[in-house]
Amino acid sequence: MQAFCKKKNKKVLKFSLKSPRCILKFATHKMTKNAVIIGAGIGGMACAVRLASKGYKVKVFEKNNYPGGKLTSIEHKKYRFDAGPSLFTLPELVDELYKVAGKENTFEYERLKEVCHYFYPDGKKYTAPSDADKFAETFSSTFNEDLGKTHKFIKTIRQNFNLTSPVFLESSLHKLSTYIKPSGLRGIANLWRLNMFTSMHKQLNKSFKSHQALQYFGRFATYNGSNPYKAPATLCVIPHIEINRGAYFPKGGMQSITNAIYKLALECGVEIHLNQGVQDILTENNVATGIRLQNEDIHMANVVVSNADAKLTYKMLGKSLPRKIKKAENSSSAIIFYWGIKKEFEQLGLHNIFFATDYEQEFKNIFETKDLHHDPTIYVNISSKFCHTDAPVGCENWFVMINAPADYGQDWDQKVSQARKYILQKLETMLHEPIETLIETEDVLTPPLIASKTGSHRGSLYGSSSNSIMSAFNRQSNYSNNVKQLYFCGGSVHPGGGIPLCLHGAQIVSNLVPKP
Ligand code: FAD
Repeated sequence: MQAFCKKKNKKVLKFSLKSPRCILKFATHKMTKNAVIIGAGIGGMACAVRLASKGYKVKVFEKNNYPGGKLTSIEHKKYRFDAGPSLFTLPELVDELYKVAGKENTFEYERLKEVCHYFYPDGKKYTAPSDADKFAETFSSTFNEDLGKTHKFIKTIRQNFNLTSPVFLESSLHKLSTYIKPSGLRGIANLWRLNMFTSMHKQLNKSFKSHQALQYFGRFATYNGSNPYKAPATLCVIPHIEINRGAYFPKGGMQSITNAIYKLALECGVEIHLNQGVQDILTENNVATGIRLQNEDIHMANVVVSNADAKLTYKMLGKSLPRKIKKAENSSSAIIFYWGIKKEFEQLGLHNIFFATDYEQEFKNIFETKDLHHDPTIYVNISSKFCHTDAPVGCENWFVMINAPADYGQDWDQKVSQARKYILQKLETMLHEPIETLIETEDVLTPPLIASKTGSHRGSLYGSSSNSIMSAFNRQSNYSNNVKQLYFCGGSVHPGGGIPLCLHGAQIVSNLVPKP
C-alpha cells in the first residue's frame, strides 16, 4: 500500500485508503507482489529481469546516474574505454536472461581466436589460442612442458568444473537442498578431486615445471582477486572457462553487456530509478518490508534484494556485521590508467599481459604489506582492436591495469605516481617504444575511487578474496539468516565476483525467492 501512495508519514498512510485511487492501487497491490532491488550493477539488473519474469513488480534503485556499477565506460576526447571488466566469458549466461524473459535476443558477441598475448621479462612471448587442443600444443611447446600432462590437466579441470559448478556456482551453498540433489551429492562425493588443502601454486607444480608455465596458470587466481600462492587448488578450475569454453568480445565493447541487460529489464517492465541512493532497509519483526531512499521516500516491498556490497547492506540494515564477514580478507583492488595512445601496436591484441619477474613477491606486497611492487604484472586491454570507433584512426585506447591492495588509507596520490613510473619503465623496456610520449589523454581509477563509485568495501574488485579454503563458505549467503525476505546478489556475496558469477548469483536469488 505504501509503495503506491509513496508517503513518508504514517498518518497519511492510514487515511490514504480513503482515497478511491489508493483503494484501487491497494487492490492491485494485493494481486501483484513487489520486489525492490538496491543497486543496478550487473547482478542487480539480472536479478530484476529474473524476478520480473517470475511475476514480481520490480523497482531498482541506483545511487549513480548510470546503470552497470563497475561494468561501465568512460569517454575522453575521441577515445572510449570500458572502465571496469574487460574479459568476457560464459556469454550464454546473458543469453539465458533473454530466454527466461521470453524476449528476442539482440545481444551480439564473437568468440576470440586469440585469448591473450603474454609477454615475459626474458623476452618470451606466448599467444593463447581459444581452442583447447591448440592451446595444449602451443603451450607445451612454448614452455617446454609435457604435452600429455598438459592435455591431462585441461581434461581434469574441465571434469572438476563440471562436477562442482552445480554446487559451488549455481546453488546456494547454505541450503541443505543443494546437497541432497543428485548434482549436490555428486559434487560432495568429488570434492576430494579439488585438492582444497593444497595451494593452487603447489598443485600446479604437480603438472608443470617451468616457472613461466606456473606463472601463466597462477594468474587465474587474480580473476577473483586472490593470491595463487595462498588460494586453495580449487581455483585451478578457473582456466577451464577460457581454455575449454573460450573468451568473447561483445559487439560494441563490454559496456554493451550493461546496455543489453538494462534494456531487457526495461522491456520486462522493471523500473530502474537512477540517482536514487538507498539509505535504509526497513524491517518489521525481522522481516524486510521495504527501503528508505536518501531523499526520505519510502518504497514498501514483499522482497528486498541488495546488489550493493554486503558490508554496505548491513549498514543499511542497521545491523553489525557477522563475524565471518567482518574477518574475511578483501580481494585485491587495482590502479588503472586509461590512456589514449597515438599509435597502433601490431604486436598487441585485445588482452595483453606483461609478467613480473618475481610473481610471488608481487602477491606478498599486495596482500601482506599492502603496497605496490616495483616490477608489477601489467594488463593492457585495447578494445579498439575490435571496436574501431573506440579510438581515432591510427590510435589505440589502452586500459592499463596493475593489481593493487585494497584501500587501507595508503597515500594513493603517491601510489599512482609510483605505479605510472613502474608501468612506463616496464612497457617501454618490453615494447621498445617511448610510451609516455604517445599518451594524449589520461584518466586514472584507484581503490578509493572504486569504493566511492560503486560502494565496494575498500575498493576491492571482487568482494572477499579466496585465499583460504573456507572463503567460499564464509562469503555472505544469497539470503539473510536473520531478516526474512532479504536477499543478496553481486560480487561480494556467494558465489563471488566477476560477471559470470554475478549472473549465477542473480539466478540463485531468483530460485530462492518464492513465487509471487
Ligand atoms: P557492482 O558493479 O558492484 O554495482 C553495485 C551497484 O550498487 C553500483 O552501481 C552502486 O552504485 C550501487 N549501490 C551501492 N550502494 C547503493 C545504495 N546505497 N543505493 C543504491 N545503489 C547503491 N569481472 C569480469 O568478469 N571480468 C573482468 O575482466 C573484470 N575486470 C574488472 C576490472 C575492474 C577494474 C573492476 C572494478 C572489476 C572487474 N571485474 C571483472 C569484476 C566485475 O566488474 C564485478 O564482479 C561485477 O561487475 C560486480 O557486479 P555487481 O552486480 O556486484 O555490482
